[in-house]
Amino acid sequence: MSRKQRIVIAGAGLGGLCAALCLARQGFEVEVVERAPELAEVGAGIQISANAARVIAHLGLLDELRRRGFEPETAEIRDGRSGFTYFRNRLRDAHAERYGFPYVQIHRADLHDLLLTACTAAGIAVTIDSPVLTYRAFERTAAAVLISGREVEGDVLIGADGIHSAVRMRMLGAERPRFTGQVAWRGTIPAERLDRAKVAPVAGVWAGPGRHFVHYYLRGGALVNFVAIEERPRWDRESWTEPGAVAELRQAFAGWHETVQEILGAVENTFLWGLFGRDRLKRWTDGRVALLGDACHPMLPFMAQGAAMAFEDAYVLARCLAGDDDPVAALKAYERLRIDRATRVQRQAMENGRLFHARGRAEQWRRLAPVWLASHVLPGIARSRFDWLYGFDVTA
Ligand SMILES: Cc1cc2nc3c(=O)[nH]c(=O)nc-3n(C[C@H](O)[C@H](O)[C@H](O)COP(=O)(O)OP(=O)(O)OC[C@H]3O[C@@H](n4cnc5c(N)ncnc54)[C@H](O)[C@@H]3O)c2cc1C
Repeated sequence: MSRKQRIVIAGAGLGGLCAALCLARQGFEVEVVERAPELAEVGAGIQISANAARVIAHLGLLDELRRRGFEPETAEIRDGRSGFTYFRNRLRDAHAERYGFPYVQIHRADLHDLLLTACTAAGIAVTIDSPVLTYRAFERTAAAVLISGREVEGDVLIGADGIHSAVRMRMLGAERPRFTGQVAWRGTIPAERLDRAKVAPVAGVWAGPGRHFVHYYLRGGALVNFVAIEERPRWDRESWTEPGAVAELRQAFAGWHETVQEILGAVENTFLWGLFGRDRLKRWTDGRVALLGDACHPMLPFMAQGAAMAFEDAYVLARCLAGDDDPVAALKAYERLRIDRATRVQRQAMENGRLFHARGRAEQWRRLAPVWLASHVLPGIARSRFDWLYGFDVTA
């Protein structure tokens, strides 16, 4: 390659920053343009499983991820009311023993800061207050066209601008994402406000008819993150996120297990999110332009894999571009390598919604009995069910 190629990335979210770092490590010059007037993340947690931690390790950031995060003892699926345990799997140490990398839960702002600090250290330019409106594709370059009219040109343009991606819209048309029939309340609570005896250091999922509740610790145990999911027939609000009413949240989970009550009793503020999705896109690339992360495969959070898939995308994208002097062919190879896996995870996340939200005791038992059986009678099989996901080595 005679000249250092220049890559422009739209979106400084978790996917965009991770892609910037992977590309910089391969020797590309990178500029990230971000819509927001300041760089920040949602006030909530995120789970990073081994397949994603592997990419973080490749960037030399694994120790810092572990230092800032929390490693849960087990993953559990329990009945929201009775507390009956359908599934329990060891995570701390066991996840790393099996897959080579740990399972870490971290505040999104901490993870974003970790990536941004590394970008700054690597000399990657991140320009804020620069919403991308569309792009222009040429034979030898591609340019992000900002709302201001300015054009940011590179050899390649990556749309890492999230589920409402402007780059995707220009590439594939104006079709809006579809409301999935699920909403999520999210928030964090200082752990000192909780009775720790009631909130175990686990990745806890509490299942019930039409809803489920998730909790886990962050920041070495100083914070507890919660996500409360409820099925709704429609999302009729202007924005896709808004402050949520704490009373409404408590009402939705009234009568649930004391762990859920302990956490909900301490909630002071929460945000309500409409969860949107898209079916598999017919393509992720257009010449020298490609999509990455939620821009091309938004998914329900029920596998905790949206950012993990974006991290895997980032690694593969950088490797493909570094390995081929023809960026158009490299981007096509990236799409080919990623689309089936991302689609499989999207589908599995939808399946988990059906598993957790069964209506009626008989239906719930019918759906969760195989999970219970595998977990209690054949734990080896229960663990191996996730090998395709967590054991996947994107760097191989
Ligand atoms: C409730 C919930 C829980 C989740 N839990 C997990 C989890 O535990 N583990 C996990 O791996 N994933 C989880 N996810 C999914 C994860 O949050 C997303 O998949 C991930 O944030 C996607 O990253 P991204 O960079 O592709 O998109 P985003 O995070 O959406 O980032 C897009 C960026 O682009 C910017 N942008 C948007 N439009 C423009 C524009 N026109 N011009 C310039 N910039 C623009 C945005 O401001 C933003 O900075 C969860 C999601 C939800 C809703």
